[in-house]
Amino acid sequence: MVTNEAAALPVAPSKHADPQVCPICGTPSLLNWLAAPDRFHGRTKKYQLLRCSSCSLVWLKDPPSPSEMGEHYGEAYDRAISTASKTSEHWFGRRDAVLHFKASGVLLDLGCGSGGFLSAFKGPSWQLYGVEMSEHAAAIAHDRCGAQVFVGDVLDAPFQPNSFDAITCFNVFEHMYEPDAVLAQVAKWLKPGGVFYTMMPNIDSAATRIFRSYWYALELPRHLYHFSPATLKMLGENSGLTVVSIKTHRELYFETSIRYAVDDLLRKLGIPRKSVADSYPDNSSIPWRAVRKVFRVAALPVINAAASLYGDGETITAVFTKNAASA
Ligand SMILES: [Zn+2]
Repeated sequence: MVTNEAAALPVAPSKHADPQVCPICGTPSLLNWLAAPDRFHGRTKKYQLLRCSSCSLVWLKDPPSPSEMGEHYGEAYDRAISTASKTSEHWFGRRDAVLHFKASGVLLDLGCGSGGFLSAFKGPSWQLYGVEMSEHAAAIAHDRCGAQVFVGDVLDAPFQPNSFDAITCFNVFEHMYEPDAVLAQVAKWLKPGGVFYTMMPNIDSAATRIFRSYWYALELPRHLYHFSPATLKMLGENSGLTVVSIKTHRELYFETSIRYAVDDLLRKLGIPRKSVADSYPDNSSIPWRAVRKVFRVAALPVINAAASLYGDGETITAVFTKNAASA
């Protein structure tokens, strides 16, 4: 495993040094977009999201510093993430998307966690690398598939230019303090013709319009930037990458957003509610689980179909490539 103790030191987030301009396009015209608390943990402190009036990038005003950010993750968050991605089937679709472009080579997964995705490539065709903040998760990833995992911040990773056939980053990019610097690094690390494959929530989605401050993927204050297909394309092209495809997908994730809205209403009526963070493992009563199952089977598809009238899906899947000329 690759380690770097210096990476544990907090790094000043330079993009927030001038809070008066858009960090992507530099436009000095910002809108206070919406304010919301950390609904996952059921906390009350509100965070302000700003929106660029030109490119529509959304980002968190005055985010916690890197040294404070650990307080906003914790065990419940880790449990929720591992519950959401515990099966290998979860990773096969993403693996096949990489295999569509590259049959073998050197793969780097940014924010690789305990190596679920990398393990899907175990075998002689691929050399596996990861970057992960958690030393514990990185050790598990190494044990599972032999991946060389750098523990620390992506920007401190010591990889050489033109090293990777594919770089992936799933639901991690929105957590980064300097997404433009990370993409510039990705462009440097890719071999000419290499692909960058990423997924993240879509701030320009039907679900965002419907649920506003209750949208589960706001994930305040852990998500620092909120992208749309347009702002992600701009960021990639600013880094010298070329878009291969940018698509949005509809997900059946409305349940958490609906729960945030219902819990907020009940709390306002004086009825105490457990936060989502406190609801793992799931100890719900059997009748309530049955109600939820019926809701999932019957109501969610209907809500989902109705949402298509309001806009795009809530997950962006994008593939960029590095042109041979930019080597
Ligand atoms: Zn902008």
